[in-house]
Amino acid sequence: MSEYSKIEWTDHTFNPWEGCQKVGPGCDHCYAETRNARFGGGTPVNWGPGAPRRRTSPANWRKPLAWNRDAGVFYAQHRRRQRVFCASLADVFDNAVDPAWRADLFDLIMATPNLDWLLLTKRIGNVASMLVGPGMPGRLPSNVWLGATIVNQAEADRDIPKLLATPAAVRFLSMEPLLEEVTVFSVDGPIDVPDGDASPLHWVIVGGESGPGARPMHPDWARSLRDQCAAAGVPFLFKQWGEWGSVSEVPGPGEHFHFRDGATVRRLGKKTAGRLLDGVRHDGFPMGRP
Ligand code: SF4
Repeated sequence: MSEYSKIEWTDHTFNPWEGCQKVGPGCDHCYAETRNARFGGGTPVNWGPGAPRRRTSPANWRKPLAWNRDAGVFYAQHRRRQRVFCASLADVFDNAVDPAWRADLFDLIMATPNLDWLLLTKRIGNVASMLVGPGMPGRLPSNVWLGATIVNQAEADRDIPKLLATPAAVRFLSMEPLLEEVTVFSVDGPIDVPDGDASPLHWVIVGGESGPGARPMHPDWARSLRDQCAAAGVPFLFKQWGEWGSVSEVPGPGEHFHFRDGATVRRLGKKTAGRLLDGVRHDGFPMGRP
């Protein structure tokens, strides 16, 4: 996954285990793998096929229970439920994970009804079959928000129908790192809805890549998704430019990247590049859940 430690849209991050395997171009510069290698003496010991995943400690697994108990205090302060982003260092629906661990995770999710759990996966095609495995609830608990990572049009065409076909309280897209222009919505409105839900997609998050070797995001790719979401009435959150920022937001000297159509972005670093799109901060959240 990308670096989520300072992520704006969650209150807690919980990793039930660590380790994964790259499955697509969005994984190319996986922050979690780099981190795993740093702690593994230079080798990402929990990465790849056949590599063991590492379950986190029982003390770590008890933390969500404490957050759940604190829900009243949190609500009094923030007037909303707490959000938990689950598995920034792994993928909940990874085939190489012991299914018993996933069953334990869903037990924990159901034991913490005061928390909204954000499960973001690059393996959306696994969700339906894994939900009916031994010890699994058969369907997503009502406190789960299910998200699919989409970085290009091929993934959108392949994975969005799978996301929409899965009943969930909230369904969202994380389009980071955005690697090309993507059409999510047709010109006539939201894409087809296999399950007949009137509001099939509840949230879209967009961001450029950060870190070493980050690939530039064309400003029009982000603008297009902003406009598609506005037309479809879907909340839009612009998370970050990433390493490369739009010269129209932050002009100045330095390394530039020129797209074929002449659009230019500049290497600014994530902090300086910021998260304004055409001067506007986009912090959309699913309806009724600010
Ligand atoms: S799915 Fe996420 S954690 Fe796994 S390799 Fe890809 S980016 Fe990394």
